[in-house]
Amino acid sequence: MKTIKLDHIGIAVENLDEALEFWQDVLGLECQGTEVVEEQAVKVAFLPVGDTEVELLESTTPDGPIAKFIERNGGGGIQHLAFRVDDIEQAIEYMNAKGMRMIDGQPRYGAGGAKIAFVHPKSSHRVLVELSERE
Ligand code: ZN
Repeated sequence: MKTIKLDHIGIAVENLDEALEFWQDVLGLECQGTEVVEEQAVKVAFLPVGDTEVELLESTTPDGPIAKFIERNGGGGIQHLAFRVDDIEQAIEYMNAKGMRMIDGQPRYGAGGAKIAFVHPKSSHRVLVELSERE
Protein backbone atom coordinates (compact mmCIF):
# COMPACT_ATOMS: atom_id res chain seq x y z
CA MET A 1 0.00 0.00 0.00
CA LYS A 2 1.31 3.42 -0.89
CA THR A 3 0.06 6.36 1.19
CA ILE A 4 0.48 9.44 -0.97
CA LYS A 5 -0.67 12.38 1.13
CA LEU A 6 -3.18 13.73 3.60
CA ASP A 7 -6.10 13.99 1.19
CA HIS A 8 -8.48 15.89 3.45
CA ILE A 9 -9.63 16.56 6.99
CA GLY A 10 -13.29 15.71 7.54
CA ILE A 11 -15.13 18.09 9.85
CA ALA A 12 -18.70 17.50 11.02
CA VAL A 13 -20.78 20.68 11.18
CA GLU A 14 -24.33 21.38 12.26
CA ASN A 15 -24.91 23.89 9.49
CA LEU A 16 -22.81 24.13 6.35
CA ASP A 17 -23.67 27.73 5.53
CA GLU A 18 -22.82 28.90 9.02
CA ALA A 19 -19.57 26.89 9.01
CA LEU A 20 -18.59 28.46 5.69
CA GLU A 21 -18.79 31.86 7.32
CA PHE A 22 -15.67 30.86 9.24
CA TRP A 23 -13.80 28.60 6.84
CA GLN A 24 -14.48 30.68 3.75
CA ASP A 25 -15.20 34.23 4.82
CA VAL A 26 -12.83 34.49 7.79
CA LEU A 27 -10.07 31.99 7.02
CA GLY A 28 -10.19 32.77 3.31
CA LEU A 29 -10.41 29.25 1.92
CA GLU A 30 -12.35 28.82 -1.30
CA CYS A 31 -15.32 26.47 -1.39
CA GLN A 32 -15.13 24.42 -4.58
CA GLY A 33 -18.80 23.55 -4.48
CA THR A 34 -21.05 21.27 -2.53
CA GLU A 35 -22.30 17.77 -3.19
CA VAL A 36 -24.86 15.48 -1.57
CA VAL A 37 -23.63 11.92 -1.00
CA GLU A 38 -26.89 10.01 -0.52
CA GLU A 39 -25.25 6.79 0.63
CA GLN A 40 -23.66 8.53 3.60
CA ALA A 41 -26.54 10.98 4.19
CA VAL A 42 -24.26 14.01 3.99
CA LYS A 43 -23.93 17.29 2.20
CA VAL A 44 -20.25 17.93 1.62
CA ALA A 45 -18.23 21.05 0.87
CA PHE A 46 -14.58 20.87 -0.17
CA LEU A 47 -12.17 23.71 0.51
CA PRO A 48 -8.69 23.10 -0.89
CA VAL A 49 -5.73 24.49 1.01
CA GLY A 50 -2.18 23.81 -0.14
CA ASP A 51 -1.84 20.15 -1.01
CA THR A 52 -4.86 19.06 1.00
CA GLU A 53 -8.49 19.99 1.62
CA VAL A 54 -10.93 20.71 4.38
CA GLU A 55 -14.11 18.65 3.98
CA LEU A 56 -17.14 20.04 5.77
CA LEU A 57 -19.90 17.50 6.40
CA GLU A 58 -23.50 18.34 7.23
CA SER A 59 -25.97 15.53 7.85
CA THR A 60 -28.98 15.33 5.54
CA THR A 61 -30.94 13.19 8.03
CA PRO A 62 -31.37 13.40 11.83
CA ASP A 63 -30.16 9.80 12.26
CA GLY A 64 -27.24 9.76 9.81
CA PRO A 65 -23.66 8.98 10.90
CA ILE A 66 -22.65 12.66 10.96
CA ALA A 67 -25.76 13.63 12.95
CA LYS A 68 -24.89 10.92 15.49
CA PHE A 69 -21.29 12.09 15.67
CA ILE A 70 -22.41 15.67 16.32
CA GLU A 71 -24.77 14.47 19.04
CA ARG A 72 -22.02 12.46 20.74
CA ASN A 73 -19.48 15.26 20.48
CA GLY A 74 -21.56 18.19 21.58
CA GLY A 75 -21.79 20.06 18.29
CA GLY A 76 -19.32 18.49 15.86
CA GLY A 77 -15.62 18.90 15.16
CA ILE A 78 -12.91 16.88 13.43
CA GLN A 79 -14.52 13.59 12.43
CA HIS A 80 -11.94 11.83 10.27
CA LEU A 81 -8.59 12.08 8.48
CA ALA A 82 -8.43 10.88 4.90
CA PHE A 83 -5.26 9.58 3.28
CA ARG A 84 -4.86 9.29 -0.45
CA VAL A 85 -3.71 5.82 -1.50
CA ASP A 86 -2.65 4.63 -4.93
CA ASP A 87 -4.88 1.52 -5.02
CA ILE A 88 -7.88 1.18 -2.70
CA GLU A 89 -8.50 -2.55 -3.27
CA GLN A 90 -4.88 -3.32 -2.51
CA ALA A 91 -4.95 -1.01 0.53
CA ILE A 92 -7.94 -2.91 1.98
CA GLU A 93 -6.17 -6.23 1.44
CA TYR A 94 -3.04 -4.84 3.05
CA MET A 95 -4.97 -3.59 6.09
CA ASN A 96 -6.70 -6.95 6.49
CA ALA A 97 -3.36 -8.75 6.25
CA LYS A 98 -2.03 -6.47 9.01
CA GLY A 99 -4.95 -7.50 11.21
CA MET A 100 -6.62 -4.09 11.02
CA ARG A 101 -10.37 -3.97 11.40
CA MET A 102 -12.04 -2.27 8.43
CA ILE A 103 -15.47 -0.63 8.53
CA ASP A 104 -15.61 -1.13 4.76
CA GLY A 105 -14.48 -4.49 3.42
CA GLN A 106 -15.17 -3.23 -0.07
CA PRO A 107 -14.52 0.22 -1.54
CA ARG A 108 -17.52 2.52 -1.75
CA TYR A 109 -18.05 5.79 -3.53
CA GLY A 110 -17.42 9.05 -1.72
CA ALA A 111 -17.65 12.70 -2.68
CA GLY A 112 -15.85 13.81 -5.82
CA GLY A 113 -16.02 10.31 -7.33
CA ALA A 114 -13.41 8.95 -4.93
CA LYS A 115 -13.28 5.28 -3.97
CA ILE A 116 -13.07 5.14 -0.20
CA ALA A 117 -12.89 2.74 2.75
CA PHE A 118 -12.84 3.49 6.46
CA VAL A 119 -10.52 1.84 8.97
CA HIS A 120 -12.22 1.09 12.29
CA PRO A 121 -11.06 3.54 15.01
CA LYS A 122 -10.34 0.56 17.28
CA SER A 123 -7.51 -0.34 14.91
CA SER A 124 -6.25 3.23 14.43
CA HIS A 125 -5.94 4.50 17.99
CA ARG A 126 -9.34 6.18 18.11
CA VAL A 127 -8.87 8.20 14.93
CA LEU A 128 -11.36 7.49 12.16
CA VAL A 129 -9.13 7.00 9.11
CA GLU A 130 -10.48 7.12 5.57
CA LEU A 131 -8.47 5.65 2.72
CA SER A 132 -9.24 7.37 -0.55
CA GLU A 133 -8.28 6.69 -4.14
CA ARG A 134 -9.00 9.33 -6.75
CA GLU A 135 -7.76 10.43 -10.10
ZN1 ZN B 1 -13.77 12.24 3.94
